[in-house]
Amino acid sequence: MFIPEKLPVDKKYCGGKRGLMSIPYRYYAGLFLSKALIALRDEKKILASRCPRCGKVFMPPRSRCERDFAKITELISVGPGGVVEEFTVVNYDEPYFMEKCEKMMKAPFTMALIKLDGADTKFLHRVKGTDIKHGDRVAPKWADERSAAITDIEWFEKA
Ligand SMILES: [Zn+2]
Repeated sequence: MFIPEKLPVDKKYCGGKRGLMSIPYRYYAGLFLSKALIALRDEKKILASRCPRCGKVFMPPRSRCERDFAKITELISVGPGGVVEEFTVVNYDEPYFMEKCEKMMKAPFTMALIKLDGADTKFLHRVKGTDIKHGDRVAPKWADERSAAITDIEWFEKA
């Protein structure tokens, strides 16, 4: 590749410009994760995967164990309640997400790593309110209209 030593600079076009780049994409969940998302939508059931070798329960479900690389095919029900393990309070509304995600909660709210009952791993989700402490019990608030996405759980709230 040829890179000229000195690039021509036209002062008229120099400088920064703030902007927003939209990158549309489609995420393919795959057959395994799709089963878990469909269970959220149709049964209000949270599915995790259990490693056949070491027994570790992954939520969100994984098809391969991170410890021993065993292939995982078993999905089990976990939760729906769980415990807040880590969290941060979000104090501002992000205009882009407010526009793109109609289910987005208005700030302030909490983002938390939640360990659901029966799971060995934590997953990230919104928690209603800001009066949250480590170890708080939380339960899901299900969306009235669900679409087989993690946002079928609108948020968690103190139980
Ligand atoms: Zn394992």
